[in-house]
Amino acid sequence: MSQLQRITINNSQIQETSIILTPQQKHYLLRVLRLGDGDKFIVMDGKGKWWLAQLTAEKAHILEPLEVKTELPVSITLMMALPKGNGFDDIVRCCTELGVTYILPVLSDRTLLKPSSQKLERWQRIATEASEQSERAFVPTILEPVSFKTAISECQINHRYICEARGEYPHLTKVINNSLPEMIIAIGPEGGWTDTELEIAIESGFQPVSLGRRILRAVTAPIVALSLITAIHEV
Ligand code: SAH
Repeated sequence: MSQLQRITINNSQIQETSIILTPQQKHYLLRVLRLGDGDKFIVMDGKGKWWLAQLTAEKAHILEPLEVKTELPVSITLMMALPKGNGFDDIVRCCTELGVTYILPVLSDRTLLKPSSQKLERWQRIATEASEQSERAFVPTILEPVSFKTAISECQINHRYICEARGEYPHLTKVINNSLPEMIIAIGPEGGWTDTELEIAIESGFQPVSLGRRILRAVTAPIVALSLITAIHEV
């Protein structure tokens, strides 16, 4: 299937066996990819479903649903303190490749900037492109940035972990197993979590965990955490 091009659509674009293409998607398929009558491509709804589709007279027709093998059996929410500069772009791209389900950007005590709404759109676009590139069936959702306290207090997920670079905490791989249906993992900014943040998180049921003995950069830590989680689920 790897040779076929992929596009992501909204479920509302499906009408029985046809797909109502947006002008941008038509442009992409016909002009950018230069697909013509009879050419096949993959349509993904970003929520786990894939179909094989065919172009006929500039319209897309669904031929058959496709089986997806690229998704993890666990839903992972990455709660990530916003790092400086464009670091978040790389986090969104890499964590999408690694299988993240949701990314929740948080404003922590040591995070200075509040991102603009264009940033959110940009991250969502990066997630969509990275999902297509890594042949995922699911496009992670980038949630609206919220304050650390809101994120912690509104968290509904049972299995909660907060990564802390210092202190004698158990390694992430010692506290998770491959039968958790969902989990949230929190990673701090360049300056780290404040003691108060760590306390609040622990009081709210977050288990502090280590990712190893070295201090990782804020951009590296989520990649390591996601790699460890995928290893536990896929090896
Ligand atoms: N400046 C801080 C480190 C911040 S690293 C200090 O010197 O302590 C940014 C974030 O990455 C941390 O808040 C933590 O969530 C995560 N992190 C980095 N290295 C880690 C490690 N070895 N174990 C667990 N979390 C780590």
